[in-house]
Amino acid sequence: MTEVKKSVSERMKILRATYARELSGKVGGIEDEWRVFLISDDYQTHIHNLIRSFHTLAGSTASFGYRHLSEVARKGEEFLKSTIEDGKISKMIEQEINICLQNMKQLCKYQQVQKHIEFSVENTSAESPSDQQRGKRIIFIVEDDVQLATNMTLELECFGYDVMTFHHLKEMEQALLHVTPAAIIMDMVFPEGDIAGAKAISRWRVTLDHHIPVVFISQRNDIISRLEAVKAGSDAYFLKPVRVSDLIDKLENLINKVEHEPYRILIVDDDEVLAEYHSVLLEQHGMRSCIVNNPLTILESLSKYTFDLILLDLTMPGCDGHNLAKVIRQVPAYFSIPIVFLSGETQLEVQLQAMGTGGDDFLTKPVEPKHFISSVRIRAERMRMLRSFMECDGLSGLYTHTVMKGHIEQEFLRSMRNNSPLTLAVLDLDHFKRVNDTYGHVTGDMVIVVLARLLKQRLRRTDIIGRMGGEEFAVILPDTSIEFGYRVIEDVRRSFERISHQTQDCSFCSTFSCGIAQMPGYIDEISFYKAADMAMYDAKEAGRNQICIAKNERME
Ligand code: GH3
Ligand code: MG
Ligand code: MG
Repeated sequence: MTEVKKSVSERMKILRATYARELSGKVGGIEDEWRVFLISDDYQTHIHNLIRSFHTLAGSTASFGYRHLSEVARKGEEFLKSTIEDGKISKMIEQEINICLQNMKQLCKYQQVQKHIEFSVENTSAESPSDQQRGKRIIFIVEDDVQLATNMTLELECFGYDVMTFHHLKEMEQALLHVTPAAIIMDMVFPEGDIAGAKAISRWRVTLDHHIPVVFISQRNDIISRLEAVKAGSDAYFLKPVRVSDLIDKLENLINKVEHEPYRILIVDDDEVLAEYHSVLLEQHGMRSCIVNNPLTILESLSKYTFDLILLDLTMPGCDGHNLAKVIRQVPAYFSIPIVFLSGETQLEVQLQAMGTGGDDFLTKPVEPKHFISSVRIRAERMRMLRSFMECDGLSGLYTHTVMKGHIEQEFLRSMRNNSPLTLAVLDLDHFKRVNDTYGHVTGDMVIVVLARLLKQRLRRTDIIGRMGGEEFAVILPDTSIEFGYRVIEDVRRSFERISHQTQDCSFCSTFSCGIAQMPGYIDEISFYKAADMAMYDAKEAGRNQICIAKNERME
């Protein structure tokens, strides 16, 4: 009995999955049918087929539990039926059917987004870099200006957001019953009133127990409108015309409260138990630690990882903390790592002396855990900031040329050692001189920032991105085959060419050319980089806005 039951439920599961897969195709089919209908003169032949298609979809979606989609399809069916008497489609009905189809497509998309979320929860090692992010990136745009909404949707999609667009407030409120977006972009003025946008948000906030960021966009620059927005719990207010790049900056800020890598702390203490205790304390507070019990091996450990702070015991056999701090400070690469002494020493004089040798703080054992954690965290945080100022380019926030050179060498050696795949991409903006000459240097800078942001968004956290100078960028994709690397960069290329950059009085698009090379295949990192760079020039010669793969010069 149970056997039979199980097989029925299994079959149902398969059926559901198949239906879900085919759903957007079904909706697409109806849309095609509608298009054909609009250009044909033969109302009578097509109308009944079209009504049947809407009717069938309304029925099957209801059976499989897509209640909302079914309602929309039913609405479409009713609209079409209402035209039978007249024997033609009025402009008003045409618009309504277009909206129905638009909504149906969006609901299908939501369906896929949901699957993404389930997938990434189940499969944490999903291959695609941005998939895991996807579920968190649904944005609602609520805007009755259809043209504006469409433009914003296209641009946000280029930055990897999943956008659902609504032209009516009611539609948004209904959708909110089913979908929780990462943020809402909201117009202020609607046919319902001059502050209808803020009113709708306030109304809906009452029913919700968690905060969803809302960004208002409006033509209204008066205090009343701004106040209403604030009262509705807005997070930002942009005046139209909105620069999409500003909007994206804001969204990034609101959605991705920067999830940084945990701080990495090196603990140097000959007392194994105490070192372990401090290590556990740090891990409990989200930091990573590495323990060195034999102070004479400290240089080895320092060379393995980049540490944000060193916790140093003062009295250890064979070598004391003062001297060890001096040794560390004499290596240029470690000059700025904060050193915090951790010792049972209570004499002020000894403590001061220790500070004089390059320590940044002195904590007396036993340290109160709260004090210990906050003092480590504050200094590690400052170290991170300092490091990013030193290593990153001020305009794009990407690694500088010098830092990238180091990373390329490091990854090259790692790939040689492990025989692991490694892909390197060199990107250069096309005709950038022309961009500067036509729109000015400031606008040129903006294009650089947009590409930098797109790369940061589209690539994985383990990928390394740098600005090699001017309008040239490099991307290191560790453990990545050239086929996959190509797909990723091609995806970025296609998105980038679609982004429209706005100036005071016009907008334009920009492109880049790219060369990629893969390891294994080169004897040193210089020829590896050169190969990618040459391939980039091949891409320029072949007409720009494309990716060329370097010829692999195996030299074994
Ligand atoms: P190609 O497609 O062959 O790469 O043509 P191009 O015009 O992009 O190349 P070219 O090397 O002739 O010119 C690069 C231009 O990039 C010249 C320089 O003014 C501009 N540029 C370099 N760095 C910056 C920058 O930081 N900001 C801005 N706005 N422009 C920059
Ligand atoms: Mg160029
Ligand atoms: Mg150039």
